[in-house]
Amino acid sequence: MIVCETINELRSIIRKRRRTAPEGIIGFVPTMGYLHEGHASLMRRAKDECGYAAASVFVNPLQFGPNEDFDRYPRNREHDIALAEASGVDLLFMPSLAEMYPEKPLTKVLIGQVSERLCGASRPGHFDGVGLVVGKLFNLVQPDKAYFGMKDAQQVAVIRRMVDDMNFPVEIVPCETVREPDGLAKSSRNVYLNPEERRQAVILYETLEAAGRWMREPGVTASDLTSRIRAKIAEAPLADIDYAELLKYPDLTPPEPGADISRHPKELIVALAVKFGRTRLIDNRVFGSAGR
Ligand code: AMP
Repeated sequence: MIVCETINELRSIIRKRRRTAPEGIIGFVPTMGYLHEGHASLMRRAKDECGYAAASVFVNPLQFGPNEDFDRYPRNREHDIALAEASGVDLLFMPSLAEMYPEKPLTKVLIGQVSERLCGASRPGHFDGVGLVVGKLFNLVQPDKAYFGMKDAQQVAVIRRMVDDMNFPVEIVPCETVREPDGLAKSSRNVYLNPEERRQAVILYETLEAAGRWMREPGVTASDLTSRIRAKIAEAPLADIDYAELLKYPDLTPPEPGADISRHPKELIVALAVKFGRTRLIDNRVFGSAGR
């Protein structure tokens, strides 16, 4: 695996790869590091499907709000290099802040509608920062396929719209969420949880499981469901709900009020963001239109 830190070096490695393997394709996994099994699953899939896997580790300040955890976001360079290498990554791009943003970017990437609710509402500007950095990384790496976790389902919807609207020549591949044995979605932020918060954090998974059962009940409405979902999360005394919503996926607009959710013709998402102490966790599940 090659580790590189500059854009010049990255571009020359990508050019060389294209020259020496003209028929080959490049898979890409952008991350913010502190890598875990969720990231590793994306990297292995990129390598399997593309034969050549590039990944990046960059904690992007533009997607953090002023009172968020940019400064204390966990970082571990040596561990990230080892995990990426063990997951089959061929090229790991680890740029500095100055390399990515020599000047404050004046360009804005605003992706409407799909970025307005959920994390877009509770973290204003978050998806503008995600859109800008992912757009830059796509221009730098020029991947054929890019792998994103459905743990961040709204991010998948936002990036897909950006790619479609702007004709980026890349296929977005959504990947299943990797979980701990008790169901908690793996996340770099799980290290912030104290033991009691960690124990109670499983309520997100349990709520998604319960929501799946409730959605099959004939006649159930969106407002019934959201109140049951909120009540279920409140069973964990340390849980502080940021949002708990039922929306259509991937457009992320609400289902018609009063509609029978068990017969809803479109995919629906139950999306949760819950704080435990200072740690905000997100999770979701997308329910297909058939066999709900
Ligand atoms: P992050 O480093 O949190 O920005 O995540 C980088 C990529 O890994 C994103 O596409 C995430 O959705 C994905 N990812 C993070 N956690 C998981 C997980 N538990 N399972 C699958 N993918 C994940």
